[in-house]
Amino acid sequence: MIYKGYEAVIGLEVHCELSTASKIFCSCSTAYGGEANSHTCPVCTGMPGALPTLNRKVVEYAITAGLALNCTVNKSSGHDRKNYFYPDLPKGYQISQYDIPLLYDGHLNITDEDGQLLNIGIERIHIEEDAGKLIHRDGETLIDFNRAGVPLIEIVSRPCMHTAEEVKSYLRKLRTILVSTGVSDCKMNEGSMRADINVSVREVGDTSFTTRTEIKNLNSINHAGRAVEYEFKRQVDTILAGGEIVRETRRYDENSGKTFSMRSKEGQRDYRFFADPDLPRLTVSDELICSLAATLPELPDAKIARYCSEYSLSQDDAELIAESPAASEYYNTAVTLTQNKKTLTNLFIGEILPKLGENEPIVSPSHLAEITDLLSAGEINNGTAKLLISRCTAEDGMSPAEIVTRDNLGMIRDKEKIRELLDTAVKELPKAVSDYKNGKKAAIKSIIGRAMAISKGRADPVILNDEAEKIL
Ligand SMILES: [Zn+2]
Repeated sequence: MIYKGYEAVIGLEVHCELSTASKIFCSCSTAYGGEANSHTCPVCTGMPGALPTLNRKVVEYAITAGLALNCTVNKSSGHDRKNYFYPDLPKGYQISQYDIPLLYDGHLNITDEDGQLLNIGIERIHIEEDAGKLIHRDGETLIDFNRAGVPLIEIVSRPCMHTAEEVKSYLRKLRTILVSTGVSDCKMNEGSMRADINVSVREVGDTSFTTRTEIKNLNSINHAGRAVEYEFKRQVDTILAGGEIVRETRRYDENSGKTFSMRSKEGQRDYRFFADPDLPRLTVSDELICSLAATLPELPDAKIARYCSEYSLSQDDAELIAESPAASEYYNTAVTLTQNKKTLTNLFIGEILPKLGENEPIVSPSHLAEITDLLSAGEINNGTAKLLISRCTAEDGMSPAEIVTRDNLGMIRDKEKIRELLDTAVKELPKAVSDYKNGKKAAIKSIIGRAMAISKGRADPVILNDEAEKIL
């Protein structure tokens, strides 16, 4: 992504809500939605004298996320107050972590457009509480505190990305890793994962950092990509027109595809951070770190490597399957139930993967493996395999082999039946027959093709060839 001799320098701050049952400093529910202000108590509405108690599960989920992202755990970190006034923040401050985050110095890998592996550094991950929500309606503003106190991790990347594609790959990979560890559902449409993007520009070859702007609260990966592309060009054009980039917060408008200035960016000093006196320091034992490390599932990179080496998948196919936890769970089960792994993979990618996200009923992994074996053994053809995938879904309980028998879908191997097919083809194509008899041996192909078409592709091709030569 180079424009008029400039490149972009991009870093991301991603907020993810953790999937704990209760909030970070009280026992209120974290369930999404619900009647306004029904998941609240004196702690999360900031009543005077109410004291926070840290939810142990928040720490465990954050460490699990950090370990999956190759971070180091700070065995002693703190809680800090980030002071600012906004109506959705009842205490007048957010409890976050400032100078010492729980996790630091991690990375994840993405593949760029040229197939090169890129290592994206993660500077830090800290835990903090979410704010409430303002609802603007009929000229009034209402406040719902159900979200106030929902636990978040903020994942801060190093400013080492340069293109919109890298930003999108980073977000996709981050989401895959977090969902696969079970610490967050990362539903961007429900706001449980949202990204702030820092963008600056510099001339190609320059290695210094320049003034950056921050685009707030991107709630879709595609919007993030488009916002980066727009903001990058806007900054370059501003500089080339003699203007100056100012440190500011901008918002992305999805209808126009443009970013707009919201406010000048607060400096860290404006927040007057100080250690929260209501909470003790957060200390983490080696035992806890080890036990959490032991529960990590197979992570996407390991999965991709295993798919490539064990099942000979291409890098693209392996990434496609590993990207969705639901897809890889299905595939992992199905692929172990057959020896014909290549055929199963093709059927899975072509027929199953596109339907997985759509809440449609889907053939079970064991039935897919059985269909694969019937296809590989030449009992059915490709078209029948696809038909069986949908029929097995509709007729729960019947196995693919039973459906093949009931609906007469198997390959035709009976010589009598094959001769009948050929007889029909010969009658329909007298010209091909005479061509063949006059020495044009290739004319046999149209007879065979016609017979195969009449059988709807179910005739055994070897027997069909043999019988065609005999008849002619
Ligand atoms: Zn509460």
